[in-house]
Amino acid sequence: MTDLSAFSLEGRTVLVTGANTGIGQGIALAVARAGGHVLAVGRSAMDETQAQIAAIGGRCTSIQADLADHRAAVAMLDAAWATHGPIDGLVNNAGIIRRADSVDLSETDWDEVIDLNLKMTFFLSQAFARHVLASAGRGRVVNIASLLSFQGGIRVASYTASKHGVAGLTQVLCNEWAAKGINVNAIAPGYVESNNTTALRADPDRSTAILSRIPAAAGDSRPTLAMRRCFCCPMHPATCTAPSSLWMAAGSRGDPMTQLFAQPNDGKVTQLNGSTRRVVLHLPELMLVEFTFEKGGIGALHSHPHIQSSFVAEGVFEVTIGDETQTIAAGGAYIVPSGVTHGVKALEAGKLIDSFTPVREDFL
Ligand code: NAP
Repeated sequence: MTDLSAFSLEGRTVLVTGANTGIGQGIALAVARAGGHVLAVGRSAMDETQAQIAAIGGRCTSIQADLADHRAAVAMLDAAWATHGPIDGLVNNAGIIRRADSVDLSETDWDEVIDLNLKMTFFLSQAFARHVLASAGRGRVVNIASLLSFQGGIRVASYTASKHGVAGLTQVLCNEWAAKGINVNAIAPGYVESNNTTALRADPDRSTAILSRIPAAAGDSRPTLAMRRCFCCPMHPATCTAPSSLWMAAGSRGDPMTQLFAQPNDGKVTQLNGSTRRVVLHLPELMLVEFTFEKGGIGALHSHPHIQSSFVAEGVFEVTIGDETQTIAAGGAYIVPSGVTHGVKALEAGKLIDSFTPVREDFL
């Protein structure tokens, strides 16, 4: 239970739908590795997931439920809250895909996909939020969107529509609930080995075509690794306050955030006095920047109108925000509201990952 200590979920309970296989299983393992209690929900037995979590000394409770009917899904969540609550995080992962030419796609294939991928995601999130708000607690929702939340794909009309819907839903729920203590984010995976992509992977022409569009296609596309890279960040209490909150785990190979969505100047490195700044990624409303500090390096006191959320990835920093100074070690995080004076001193060599919204044009 050590390799995700920087993103500890110790003492937290996270409900993951579709946790018996694929990406959901990877997420369940990531939560357990971070110390969280997993409520593994799905229509199939969770034996394999439970065994894998038990093998790393984690805690997993299996809940059997067919989520195709959103009322049954809500009843499951209410019962889970009553038995295991409070629940700190909800991962809307369960999803299906139907492949057919758009001229042939049946009404059933439309309805079943939209009902599970989109309708269930909304009503489960709503049920979760009602509990969190009633208990005056804090909550995290992570929706599993898709690269097809941004693209069209082919032969997957209902799936693409559902995942565009999930992206929009993520943003509206984030806008409504962020100030009430519930952060809503989405991870948008690309091409991950799972039952979802069995048909594609069995078609060498399509598979080769897809892989050729992934810049770092030599990596590992197993869901566990992909999710370990990207999952715990949005689940972490201090991250993702940005209004636009889609996290793209797009390629699931290599470093997808920097490679598939690279903008001009992403990767730009600037040497500062005592630190190095690297622009990891910038989107219209969000920027990720890595600062590598040598011991004693100083980020001088300054302020800006951007909202900043910072994660201490390595080392120990003395952080001043307004009138307060605190020491924050690897795994800790802090938020700087718009316009507040702040600065850091590296007590050891270390690394900060800062997100800014909107984009810091002065870094480009
Ligand atoms: P997967 O292995 O097929 O997993 C889908 C999960 O959803 C399974 O646990 C499945 O349970 C569950 N599920 C389906 N229908 C259900 C129902 N009616 N009630 C309860 N659970 C149900 O595929 P995956 O790739 O891991 O998919 C997980 C999520 O990632 C989905 O939302 C998918 O759209 C998304 N995604 C996948 C990729 C990719 O490349 N694989 C890319 C982008 C997004 P059963 O095993 O019982 O069917």
